[in-house]
Amino acid sequence: MTDVDVCIIGGGIQGCGVAQAVAAAGYKTLLIEQTGIAAATSCRSSKLIHGGLRYLESGQFGLVAKSLAERERLIRNAPELVRRVPFYIPIYKDTRRRPWQIVLGLSLYALLGRLQASACYRSVAQREWPQLDGLRQDGLQAVYQYWDAQTDDAELTRAVMYSAMQLGAELRCPARFISARYHNGHYQIGYEQGQMEYGLSSKVLVNAAGPWVKTVHDGLQTRALMPDIDLVQGTHLILKQSAPSGVYYVESPSDRRAVFVMPWYGHTMIGTTETLVQTDPASIIPTEHEIDYLRNIAHYYFPHNDDSVIDRFAGVRVLPKGAKGVFDRPRDTLLFTHSDLPGYLALIGGKLTAYRVTAETVLHLTQKFLMPRKPINNTRVLALGKAPEGLW
Ligand SMILES: Cc1cc2nc3c(=O)[nH]c(=O)nc-3n(C[C@H](O)[C@H](O)[C@H](O)COP(=O)(O)OP(=O)(O)OC[C@H]3O[C@@H](n4cnc5c(N)ncnc54)[C@H](O)[C@@H]3O)c2cc1C
Repeated sequence: MTDVDVCIIGGGIQGCGVAQAVAAAGYKTLLIEQTGIAAATSCRSSKLIHGGLRYLESGQFGLVAKSLAERERLIRNAPELVRRVPFYIPIYKDTRRRPWQIVLGLSLYALLGRLQASACYRSVAQREWPQLDGLRQDGLQAVYQYWDAQTDDAELTRAVMYSAMQLGAELRCPARFISARYHNGHYQIGYEQGQMEYGLSSKVLVNAAGPWVKTVHDGLQTRALMPDIDLVQGTHLILKQSAPSGVYYVESPSDRRAVFVMPWYGHTMIGTTETLVQTDPASIIPTEHEIDYLRNIAHYYFPHNDDSVIDRFAGVRVLPKGAKGVFDRPRDTLLFTHSDLPGYLALIGGKLTAYRVTAETVLHLTQKFLMPRKPINNTRVLALGKAPEGLW
């Protein structure tokens, strides 16, 4: 039976991030992924590496400051994978957020971004508006421009897993976690690969199964209850229109939600939606309602652009159950531990942007269950390049 320090379930950005952090800290690490690296949510996000300007409205200042610091670190450590892009906020007569609110929000964003040059924003001069990628000019009152960043989420996740493997982490993929039982300071873990069942023993077990976090938790057959969660589907469309010069942060005319229109491999991508789902996360697809909703927004703001849909995809957010509407629920990662399950940790929700610092926190929380090891590297400064083509 294989014996490791840390076993991670799930090869999305969170699981790969944890594998990289614990392997860099010198621990014997193994990750189990059922489908493929970045096969689920981590290839279906909005692909933004950002502080999350809109989270300021719901008072999530800690999350914004942390994400802005991580954005800068990723631009520095992974320049091949994360690039700075201009973001534009157009304000019309009927836009709910008024110019003073945008200026206030962007000033706070700059402050939380430590007032670095990249945190600056500006008001775009009226003479420049006609050059803004076909943006509707009728009723336009102001346009603000600031900076955030974009990535290819799947490529970033594969790069993090490759880095983890360079640091010594092992990968079982495709392999499916089935069960775990805590006994004498170890988890006895059962998983399936091919038609065979295997066992391994690990001191720490990290559940990073994204939308399947509850299913994996149920495999522990424990009475320790995980917090209740909601699964919320988010759809994106790829439109035929060539890529805009930056990301447009617009307000849906029908329900005033914030939506992004952004460049994506030579085309225009628009998203996202928030639709509560009850079905198996593996089977979700964009609904007709979501497609119409997003196309209407694209047409409203870019009336002369080609809004033919050439591709579409839907991902699933994991959000804590709560009284608030899904748009206003907290977006930070919830790290669940329980005294009945020493050395077990489940990651609930969270942002692609903050994966590294989340993994660092997971390491700190689980290290007390492990023998001291000599660190090999530190993910704060470790350079991250693309994984070789065709690896997964
Ligand atoms: C629509 C949408 C837009 C988003 N946009 C952004 C954004 O622009 N910027 C940002 O920072 N964040 C964004 N996010 C958040 C971000 O994408 C997610 O937080 C992140 O991708 C979640 O990664 P994960 O590793 O937790 O889950 P996943 O990527 O879903 O990975 C979980 C993995 O666990 C595996 N697994 C499950 N069960 C088992 C099992 N039994 N055995 C083995 N493996 C198993 C699955 O196959 C899967 O690969 C967005 C999220 C959504 C849904």
